Amino acid sequence: MTNQHPRPPNFSICVYCGSRAGAEPAFGQVAAQVGRWIGERGGQLVYGGGRSGLMGQVADAALAAGGRVIGVIPQALVEREHAHRGCTELLVVQTMHERKRLMAEHADAFLALPGGIGTFEEFFEAWTWRQLGYHEKPVGLLNQAGYYDAMIEFLRHSVDAGFMEEAQLRMVTTHNHPHRLLEALVHAAGFPTPMRLDEI
Ligand code: AMP
Repeated sequence: MTNQHPRPPNFSICVYCGSRAGAEPAFGQVAAQVGRWIGERGGQLVYGGGRSGLMGQVADAALAAGGRVIGVIPQALVEREHAHRGCTELLVVQTMHERKRLMAEHADAFLALPGGIGTFEEFFEAWTWRQLGYHEKPVGLLNQAGYYDAMIEFLRHSVDAGFMEEAQLRMVTTHNHPHRLLEALVHAAGFPTPMRLDEI
């Protein structure tokens, strides 16, 4: 399904985040900030195509700010995750593997926001593929309100315990501020710092 959109995107960010809203309003607020940042700069959001939780909030904010939004959702989840019919493009695929492949292909960078096991799985896959050399796209982790503190601590423990190299850990850009992190990712993906379209 395609809804018309006037211009090609300036950059494209794949966002992984919760299909639930989380216990704090701050999680939804940061998802909306991320979507708005992308939309206001003429960017494209690629995400899992759902309307629930943080996924819906990031997409709605990007669309409201004039961004292009590609949602990629397996047929089996169209009802369960409430497929977002307002996406600029909603790609309904057959398998989870196809979903992840298309999301990755359409993105210049990956960004994980707070979420659950689906988010973790997608984030770790983007990271492991990067360290294996399957892609060279930057991978970011938004540590909103300390949500990922314990995970980051565990990852450091993994380095100390000799199961991971410091260099692997450094492949992930971690920040607690959405705008700083988005700027870093877009920059690392080889784009100039994007301006808000209404300021150009
Ligand atoms: P969650 O973080 O668990 O709320 O899930 C966020 C999104 O990740 C949802 O759209 C899930 O369908 C998706 N998801 C769950 N498991 C996987 C998986 N194995 N691969 C890719 N996406 C997944």
